[in-house]
Amino acid sequence: MKIFNTLTRKKEEFIPITEGKVKMYVCGPTVYNFFHIGNGRTFIVFDTIRRYFEYRGYEVSFVQNFTDIDDKMIKKANEEETTVKNIGDKYIEEYYKDADRLNIERATVNPRATEYITDIIEFVKSLVNRGFAYEINGDVYFSTKKFNEYGKLSGQNLDDLQAGARINVDERKNDPMDFAIWKAQKLGEPAWESPWGLGRPGWHIECSCMAKKILGETIDIHGGGMDLAFPHHENEIAQSEALTGENLANYWMHSAFVNVDNKKMSKSLNNFFTAREILEKYDADVVRFLMLSGHYRIQINFSQDLLESAKASIERLYNCINNLENLIDEVNENKISEEEVVYLKSLDKYRDKFIEKMDDDFNTADAISVLFDLTKDINSNVGINSSKELCEKSLLVIRELGKPLGILQKSTKQDLDSEIQALVDQRQQARKDRDFALADKIRDDLKNRGIVLEDTPQGVRWKKVD
Ligand code: AMP
Ligand code: ZN
Repeated sequence: MKIFNTLTRKKEEFIPITEGKVKMYVCGPTVYNFFHIGNGRTFIVFDTIRRYFEYRGYEVSFVQNFTDIDDKMIKKANEEETTVKNIGDKYIEEYYKDADRLNIERATVNPRATEYITDIIEFVKSLVNRGFAYEINGDVYFSTKKFNEYGKLSGQNLDDLQAGARINVDERKNDPMDFAIWKAQKLGEPAWESPWGLGRPGWHIECSCMAKKILGETIDIHGGGMDLAFPHHENEIAQSEALTGENLANYWMHSAFVNVDNKKMSKSLNNFFTAREILEKYDADVVRFLMLSGHYRIQINFSQDLLESAKASIERLYNCINNLENLIDEVNENKISEEEVVYLKSLDKYRDKFIEKMDDDFNTADAISVLFDLTKDINSNVGINSSKELCEKSLLVIRELGKPLGILQKSTKQDLDSEIQALVDQRQQARKDRDFALADKIRDDLKNRGIVLEDTPQGVRWKKVD
């Protein structure tokens, strides 16, 4: 399996620290608002990577943190006249609602920064004791010059970085590139007791500390959006590696942005769509399809057209599922024939191809093309004269390959709730009674709800079209 490692700027063979296991840490959301679909892409990408490792038989420890203390959290709490803790509680709950709907598997652990304050203080203390950090009036800064490899992740050297750096007026650090790992309390801010007085942790130290505490000194994969490579991950490396002398992560992975009009979707630019508002109109399968139909290292320029085309594409895949589900109810023969066994075996080539594509730095774009080839093959070879077993097993192949992508797991039958079924039955009765006006009305009403009926030799079938 090959992974593009931001650290070496190369695709490398994945060699886990412990055979059969993967330890992953992904930077999660700052919980002061609903997440937007730019954030959503990063969550979906790493969820897919995790799912794929699991599909390949790895046991994955997946940690994604919640940043629940920072300037934005404090500002939001002030605006809403409540505590930072309440804001965190609220938006963590909302995060789970949206993430669950997006079929994002729950992490092994979702640590909250504020639950690790004691460990963070210990971490900072050790860095000060070893001479990697210094205190000025209650702030503690990491001294980037002391860490020889500073800049190795982003491929920049300290001199160039320094030339471009500016010191904010409220900062009292020795060197422009130094960064705060502990911040003295400002008026009205939440704070914790520390050897440097009341204060709170800096953002970078939280991830260094939680990754170490939960997963150990060296992890297999550290991930996040592209914007985090510098300075966040660079600073995490400096702090963690200064402390332990070990590599923080063997592989660094960064997913590309979702843009709008070629600008990064972000809360500050106010050019965002929340996952929640998109999910009101589009299914999770559509959103995941959109995010995964391009390679994770290529930017997506988000638009309504893109959503619509993702919707049309996923529908084509679901039509095959719908067809198979109907056939399972309708075909006469139960047992698979010898000829069909041979055909079923021929589908292995799609599985092999899918794995080949995903093994190549999680090329979901090409893996999805394989899914289209598979369904095309099934559509032309499995039909009303096939055995039930073949229909079932073909369906299982589609589901199997959809699972690592978190798509194609729904039954098209589940939508047939009793209300719709009752209407379909009522329409059949009306036709029998030759009440064509009523029959047509029911048909039109269903159509308005996005359900179309088809008369087939096997009876009335229905399909959801949006
Ligand atoms: P935040 O809540 O801003 O701290 O971001 C949470 C995660 O979403 C981080 O891994 C970010 O790198 C990622 N992220 C933020 N904006 C975007 C975007 N427009 N496209 C893709 N990922 C993003
Ligand atoms: Zn982080």
